[in-house]
Parts: sequence; C-alpha cells; structure tokens
Amino acid sequence: MTNELIILGSTGSIGTQALEVAKQNNIKVTALAAGSNIDLLEKQAREFKPNIVSVANEEAAKKLRLNLSDTNIKVVGGKDSVCEIVHHTGDTVLNAIVGIAGLPASLETAKCGKILALANKESLVTGGNLLTKAIKDGGGVMYPVDSEHSAIFQSLQGVPNGALSRILLTASGGPFFGKTREELKNVTVEQTLNHPNWSMGQKITVDSATLMNKGLEVIEAVHLFGVTANQIDVVVQRESIIHSGVELCDGGLIVQMGTPDMKLPIAYALTYPNRYPCSERLDLTKIGKLTFYKPDTNTFKCLKVCIDAINKGGLKPCAANGANEEAVRLFLNREISFLQIGDLVEAATNQQKDVTEYTLQDVYDCDKRARDFVLANYKL
Ligand code: NAD
Ligand code: MG
Repeated sequence: MTNELIILGSTGSIGTQALEVAKQNNIKVTALAAGSNIDLLEKQAREFKPNIVSVANEEAAKKLRLNLSDTNIKVVGGKDSVCEIVHHTGDTVLNAIVGIAGLPASLETAKCGKILALANKESLVTGGNLLTKAIKDGGGVMYPVDSEHSAIFQSLQGVPNGALSRILLTASGGPFFGKTREELKNVTVEQTLNHPNWSMGQKITVDSATLMNKGLEVIEAVHLFGVTANQIDVVVQRESIIHSGVELCDGGLIVQMGTPDMKLPIAYALTYPNRYPCSERLDLTKIGKLTFYKPDTNTFKCLKVCIDAINKGGLKPCAANGANEEAVRLFLNREISFLQIGDLVEAATNQQKDVTEYTLQDVYDCDKRARDFVLANYKL
C-alpha cells in the first residue's frame, strides 16, 4: 500500500486521475513529472506540494523554476530528469508517461526496488524482458494500471498457481467497430478521436481505433502474467463493462466488471490489496445486455501484427511500437490516412530481424530503425 507517491506524466489523462485518487485516499504526493505542459504542472505543484518536479523540456523547466520561485519546490529539467526524481522519497512510482519515453523511468523504478504502478504499457512492449528482469533483480513489484490487466490481476486473486488456463482480454472495438477497409479509407482525425466509452490521451485513443492498443495489451499481458499469446482470447465487449478476466482449468471464468472508469484500476494499483470507494456503482438492470464479438483482424491489422510480433519475440514488438508511435504522430498531423497506420506498422515490423536476446541499446536502435522506416516510406 502506497504512502508516498511519485507520479510521472501527471498532466495527462491517467496522471490527473491519479492525483484525484491520491487526494481521495490521503496519499502524499512527493514528486511529479511532465513533458512540457507547465501551466497545469504548476497548478498541480501548488495544490499537492511535492518536494520536486521534473519537466522533460529544458526551456519549459527554466520557466517553471522561475514561476515556482516563491515555493520550496525544486524543479529539475531535461530528458533524463524523470529518472532522477524516481530516486526521490516515495514507495510507489506511477508511470503514466506516453510511449517509449516511459521506458527509462520504469527501469529506474525497478532498479530502486520500488512499487511500479504501470500505466505506460509501451515500457513492457518495447523492453519487456529487460523490465521484468530488472523488477526481479531489484526486489520490487509491478502492478498494472491498464484496466484490462488490472481486471486480470483482480480476477487472479486467490487463484492457486497452475490453475490459470486462458486469459480473456476484452476490447471496446473503438469508434470504427464493424466498418470495412473501404469505409475506413477517408476517416478523419476527429472521427478517430471520438471514442465511444473512454476519455483518454490522443495517442491511446488513436491506438484504440486501430486496435493497436489491444495488440500492445496482448504483449503487455504476456509479460505480466507469463502466458503465451495463444492463451489470450481477445473478445470485443462493446459496452466496456467486463474489463477482462481469466479462465481457470476447471472451466470457470472469473471476470471483473464495473463502469468504464480508470480511477478503480489506478486506486487498486496504489492501495493493493486494500480497496476504497472510488468508482460509481454499476447498475446491471440499466445496462440490460452485454454484447460480444470476435475482433476483425483483417480490417484492423495492427492487432494481428502485434500477436505475430510477440509470438516471434525479441525486438519485433519494439519495432511494431516504434512504427506505430511515428505513424500515429503523422496521422494526427494529417500527413497520412487512417489505414496507412496499420500498413506502416506491418511493413516496419516485417523489416525487423528475429533475435532472441537484446540489450537496452538494441531496444533504442530498433525503435529508431522502425521510426526511420516509417518516415522513409509514408509518402510512397
Ligand atoms: P496523455 O497523453 O494524456 O499524457 C501523457 C503524459 O506524459 C503527460 O503528462 C505528458 O506531459 C507526459 N510526457 C510525455 N512525454 C514525456 C517525457 N518524455 N517525459 C516526461 N513526461 C512525458 O496520455 P494518457 O492517455 O494519460 O496515457 C499515458 C499512458 O497510460 C500511455 O502509455 C497509455 O497507453 C496508458 N493508458 C492510458 C489509459 C487512459 O485511460 N488514458 C488507459 C490505460 C493505459
Ligand atoms: Mg487498456
């Protein structure tokens, strides 16, 4: 159970909700980190009074240092400053940075032996073997914040070793569920950012529409729960009420249900194994019925690319992730179409050679290669 909390990515969708959870549960916030949004970071710093804040952008850090000069809050700046604040007083680090930019801080948290409350799934996707080993070597633990993985983790409580046979990973299907490739040709950024059930940061909202998010989550689940991708059934659950679950060897299926609200999985990671009121109650009679479908991996090819990538292992998932980060950036800049995201992710992942072992430098090299591949090929 967390007493003192460090929040990385505090100005984002998960970060701001984590601050609400901390407030509701009287958890002291000792450090905050963000990329560049210093107006919100300053507001948070004045309200939560951490000892230290980090800003990845140097110029923004300088400005914030000036703005906070009437307080005792220390401001550190630069790309590496987020790793510095991980060492600061605090038993838990909630990593809610978006993208591979979150990997170094996850590894640093693991080395410190602290509790890593992980929202940044890209850490596990890109450097999964390195992070799980670092957690083991550092003597700490990692609790999932991603709602599906939290649901699986919750469903596994009390399940004896060896009794897990499969994982049920649910997906909302996103805004384009049921659409054909033809119908997706001209979808706009605005249509893509209009998620039916969840309000999230831009990158993960695009990932939800392409089903890349579900692909990243399959890879995340493989690392977190020690299963193979073949043991994971991805099922579209349109209402986002069943957040995922586990099938046991006796045929029983245990799932976690609730309203779509990230506060519960955030709180569970921070207060595990305790529970406190945080989400609205679910009224099943108001919902009436739940609907389930198979995902369409021909139209939404990112999911299939990720499953193939984790089956091959090595750096393939890292290549898929790097290509996706770059492709999503180009899509949000209106430089490529929606369908090009999947095509580029597929092609860049195919370019990555099979390897069994890798170092952190290999991860960064692979990420760069995948991004360069996208930049060199997106206009073709
Ligand atoms: P977001 O874009 O809303 O916020 C990202 C945060 O990271 C911001 O505070 C930003 O300033 C910070 N950041 C970006 N680059 C940084 C850097 N180099 N150094 C330090 N900080 C940096 O994103 P989000 O939707 O909150 O998602 C964060 C992570 O949580 C992602 O990995 C996402 O996949 C995962 N996640 C999000 C949700 C959700 O509901 N939003 C659900 C499950 C998992
Ligand atoms: Mg999720």
